[in-house]
Amino acid sequence: MKVYFKELRFSTDKMYQLVDITYDVEKAVRESGVRNGICLVFAPHATAAIVANEHESGLMQDILEKIREEFPRNGGWKHNRIDDNAAAHLGSAFIGADRVFPVKDGRLIRGTWQNIFLVEMDGPRSIRRVIVEVLGE
Ligand code: ZN
Repeated sequence: MKVYFKELRFSTDKMYQLVDITYDVEKAVRESGVRNGICLVFAPHATAAIVANEHESGLMQDILEKIREEFPRNGGWKHNRIDDNAAAHLGSAFIGADRVFPVKDGRLIRGTWQNIFLVEMDGPRSIRRVIVEVLGE
């Protein structure tokens, strides 16, 4: 079995932001040489997440608005007593910091309306890392 590991780096310029990382993830899958297997996309951060959905500007705003609504900045969270970003931790915990995709015939499988996004919830950050690990044959 092949194991291919790549670390991608992105910067964000807003507190809440969706960064479309589809191109870079698919490039990593091609570089891996894996024909059939799985692709893990993982953000090693407690205040960011990974999602797959449509790259449509209205929907992208809707997703961020829903996150803000679900995890309000001033929600009386205890973590805000030491670090004013509990909302971002909650978003990361409940949305999840990873997604797994099938790889078949050398290509990552995703729906037509499923681009892959890094979800920034505590930006701006000069560096947000995303790990892409491709496993298979
Ligand atoms: Zn914190």
